[in-house]
Amino acid sequence: MAIQLLSPNVSSKIAAGEITERPSSVVKELVENSLDAQASDISIDVRSGGIEYIRVVDNGVGIENNEVELAFKRFATSKLSNTSDLETISTLGFRGEALPSIAAVSSVTLVTKTDGEESGIRLEIANGCTVNKQPAGTSTGTTVTVRHLFKDFPARRKFLRTTATEASRIQTTITRLLLAYPKVKFNLSIDGSVAVYSSGSGSLQETISEAYDTKVAQAMLKLESGTVPNDDLHLIPSGMISPPSVYRTNRSHIHIFVNGRWVQNRMLAYSLQQAYHGLLKERRFPLAVVNISIPYNDVDINVHPSKTEVRFRQEGSVFSALQQAVRNTLITYSPVSEITSFPSFKELGPSIPYLPSNQWHSKPPKNPLPSLSPLRPIDHSLSILDIDGSADPLVPQKVLPALRTLGQSQSTYIVAEGPDGIYLIDQHAAHERVLFERVVSNTASRQPQVQGLMEPVTVELDPNQRNLAETQAELIKQLGFLVEEFGGQAHILRGVPSMLPKGDYGQSFLEILDLMAEGGGFESWKERAAYSIACHGAIRAGKKLNESEMVELIRLLELCNQPHACPHGRPTMIHLSTAKLEKEFGRT
Ligand code: ADP
Ligand code: MG
Repeated sequence: MAIQLLSPNVSSKIAAGEITERPSSVVKELVENSLDAQASDISIDVRSGGIEYIRVVDNGVGIENNEVELAFKRFATSKLSNTSDLETISTLGFRGEALPSIAAVSSVTLVTKTDGEESGIRLEIANGCTVNKQPAGTSTGTTVTVRHLFKDFPARRKFLRTTATEASRIQTTITRLLLAYPKVKFNLSIDGSVAVYSSGSGSLQETISEAYDTKVAQAMLKLESGTVPNDDLHLIPSGMISPPSVYRTNRSHIHIFVNGRWVQNRMLAYSLQQAYHGLLKERRFPLAVVNISIPYNDVDINVHPSKTEVRFRQEGSVFSALQQAVRNTLITYSPVSEITSFPSFKELGPSIPYLPSNQWHSKPPKNPLPSLSPLRPIDHSLSILDIDGSADPLVPQKVLPALRTLGQSQSTYIVAEGPDGIYLIDQHAAHERVLFERVVSNTASRQPQVQGLMEPVTVELDPNQRNLAETQAELIKQLGFLVEEFGGQAHILRGVPSMLPKGDYGQSFLEILDLMAEGGGFESWKERAAYSIACHGAIRAGKKLNESEMVELIRLLELCNQPHACPHGRPTMIHLSTAKLEKEFGRT
């Protein structure tokens, strides 16, 4: 067959194949025209997956009466006029192909009016030919109705999916566009019901909330512009990205725009995803609505008729700028998981031995963990207390794993590492537990460990103390106190329990008597006595410990029957398991 030029009719139909591949591509082209016409309100109505009916109504600038037919000619565009314009395309359309391509494969009705004209015009085109043109009363803007897509092209219709699939593609298309244009009000209705809506508030967060849901939108982080890695590359990534705790199982929520145009560029999406490296598990993907503003001559969008592919002049720099911006944002703004409250005393569950009736005598530090100030309410499923609460209180608790001391916080908490995460140990509560069990065991064996005093100490007991010293003389002896009456209120102290810290032993004795009198909520005198010594003798909160002291305390705690709670059942430690850390840091 001889070579011949194709007639415009045939060539336009060939070209149409690339632009109007399916209903969603028709919708995209029509809505992009509306956006290029500066519409602030765009309604899209589709039926039967867009195959039978698509209508796009906008309030944009409209088309002049005398240009309406021209708009349907191939390569007719108002958006560029010479080749140099091609270098700096700022509109979504520019090829002048969409309207003729759509008209080539469907029946199109266009009603339009500009601000300056009295009346609008209505144009009907079937199979590429004008069948009717008449004045029409309408408001400023354009309405394009497309019916019976590919009716005379059975081969093309065959490639369409179910109407539901085509409708969902349209929904995806509109979602992308509305995310790119938060200032524009969008309304997509599919078979009569609203499928996607945005109010055009101008707020991206609000738009994300309308497109997805409020919770997701609230969690999103505002993208901080990355540092521009190359001086002569001026690009600004902006938008919102999800924190690692919010993710999806596919990439469909990663929307990347270049100068307001949704683009399909695997490397851009990959760069963004890479910024989450180490923060998201495999097969988990972030949500992102990111626009890269870049000088128009640094990007080529004229790669494919669908205009969703782009090429950058300095590809690598664009990718790394995006990645840096995302990474910086994640590092700067991801809310640090904070421990904001400890489960209350009661929440510790049934593992509490010797539960007292009221308050503790060893007051907890006034402001526990001030540096871990509340940022957000704690999710109790993340409760960091890992005390084995299931056990019978009288049965020894699960033993402690081997712990490695990492340091001390606020002279109150020992920070240690175990095989499964991090432990914060309350030094006073822990030591109380150690001393308590030791006193209980010593008194049971009736072998008090006494340290004799080289210089006996004289103490004056008040009537209550004297009464107690008399009535509980045997127990006090079992504890390790060697006391003699010295006449009147005076007593002589010749020996003290060896576990008592060095200091004013006389004063210690008096304090312990007072603590015993108070009882600490314990019923039996033995427990009262053990508790009194433990409470008095235990290292205070606020005391700086050196490493060997911390190591020793942990070692002693490991030897306890119930290392996880102080004699009152207050926790001696808080366990942040590796799993919880991962969950809190969004690594799971
Ligand atoms: P392109 O968008 O590439 O210019 P189209 O075939 O999509 O080509 O549209 C042709 C021309 O018709 C546009 O350049 C524009 O001037 C005009 N036009 C199309 N749709 C609209 C609309 N909704 N509002 C105003 N003008 C429009
Ligand atoms: Mg167009």
